[in-house]
Amino acid sequence: MTPTPGVRAARAATRFVVQQHDATTLHYDFRLEVEGVLRSWAVPKGPSMNPADKRLAIEVEDHSMGWGEFEGRIGAGYGKGAVIVWDRGTYEGLDDVPVAAALARGRASFRLHGEKLRGGFALVRTRAGAKPQWLLIKRRDEEADGEGPVGDRPASVVSGRTLEDLR
Ligand code: MN
Repeated sequence: MTPTPGVRAARAATRFVVQQHDATTLHYDFRLEVEGVLRSWAVPKGPSMNPADKRLAIEVEDHSMGWGEFEGRIGAGYGKGAVIVWDRGTYEGLDDVPVAAALARGRASFRLHGEKLRGGFALVRTRAGAKPQWLLIKRRDEEADGEGPVGDRPASVVSGRTLEDLR
């Protein structure tokens, strides 16, 4: 599907990034630029291009835009461990309201233009409260793929390094 021309396409591109993070437990941090910050979710199994996979995404604190560039080792404290930029690119919202409003109501759809992740995705909130839980789901479109790029494309899109290289 090509992006619909018009208002959404005319806006400045908003960014997304997925960082793979070898902290206490290995996970992927999925981040969407929303109103100048990176809204963030920890996805234990990582995103999938397979619409049959519904990936748990635990909402975590917003991160600064600059954090999305980070690759390297976090030396101490919460999140200690290696980080690579697993994927990045731009995205656009697919809802009838801005992404911030769609997230506030607990269901947002968007199209990713990354190097690994492409096409429509949805975030659906399944549990509210202090640590909201969501599902990250690939939408059925021509970019969908029965095989995810998570396992077979482990390298950073920035440096070509893997987490293993940083250990
Ligand atoms: Mn993390």
